[in-house]
Amino acid sequence: MNIAKSIEMLADSSKYDKCMCKDKSTNYPFIYETTTPKGKCALMKTLVSNYCKGDCKYCVNSAKRKIRRERANEGELANLFMKLDKSRLVQGAFLSSGIDKNADFSMHRLVRTAEIIRKRGYKGYIHLKIIPGASKDMIKRTAELADRISINIETPKKTYLYDLVSQKDFKIDIIRRIRWASKTIKGTYKSLTTQFIVGASEESDKEIMKTSSHLYERYQIKRAFFSAFNPVKGTPLQNKSPENSKREYRLYQTDWLIREYGFKFKELVFGENNNLDLKMDPKYKIAITNRDIFPIDPEKATYNELIKVPGIGPTSANRIIRLRNQEKMNKSLLKKSGAALKRASPFLKIDGSFQNNLAAFSKI
Ligand code: SF4
Repeated sequence: MNIAKSIEMLADSSKYDKCMCKDKSTNYPFIYETTTPKGKCALMKTLVSNYCKGDCKYCVNSAKRKIRRERANEGELANLFMKLDKSRLVQGAFLSSGIDKNADFSMHRLVRTAEIIRKRGYKGYIHLKIIPGASKDMIKRTAELADRISINIETPKKTYLYDLVSQKDFKIDIIRRIRWASKTIKGTYKSLTTQFIVGASEESDKEIMKTSSHLYERYQIKRAFFSAFNPVKGTPLQNKSPENSKREYRLYQTDWLIREYGFKFKELVFGENNNLDLKMDPKYKIAITNRDIFPIDPEKATYNELIKVPGIGPTSANRIIRLRNQEKMNKSLLKKSGAALKRASPFLKIDGSFQNNLAAFSKI
């Protein structure tokens, strides 16, 4: 099989790995539009092999499935990438793999491909996946070659992982590798990310958020991705219902509050089932649950108080602070700050008066 055909097939097997990838290019199914730390770009995204010893019940590459298996040649894969780069069709690569003969066998092939690309003078963006159970040396070499490395945690607790997978040890193969990877890139510009599969087991949003917050604090994970479960034919979960994509969206919104707005896990609001409210924006939910702290006065409020107001984000909070030092706070100044006034008004006190009756909250 020629390399482009082989990569086309392997790229399809990699589609469940999230990296802010949006659309596949129509002409090249292994090219995805994405956002990297360096901005928007197109990535060549593929597995180097879809041979896998893993039996993850949700995965298209599970060893239990009878599918065509392919192992790309490292040199040919690197050549293809260099051609795409030269033609300015891509601005980076995201390479992953199934657990082929063993974790380090797969890591070696990922590393080898990236080494060839680097040896040919490519200095741009490379994202390499770390295979659960990979050795410390392989993780170190991966981090030397890549701008971003990632290792999928899959579930927030070991009990959920063991419902889905028989070979991966949660603490040893995953958490320990996250710790090693984190130590390896400490003090560099490089980033480490992870991914949860959502809805394949019985995990709650609260458990996911607790674990992701822990990963951010303890291991300086740059960001977590969430992938809503979709049943794959020929797997033990083929008859399980797909996860509601709204759940994935709410998890991303909540994650954003933690990473960009500085919310703490303990401030998040979950329902009785420990899941996020699918019908309401999570920041709004937090605000109306804590209505006693509102309304706040934008003339005097601290950054941390302003950021809690729905409709005010980090940029508008900073602008409010800057603008109020120049003139007295009023509606038009708030508008100038970029705050979403309609959303923010019920939570604000301007010129000594509430912008809306707080009782309105109960109707929201
Ligand atoms: S180890 Fe990775 S590629 Fe293999 S079955 Fe599990 S999730 Fe799929």
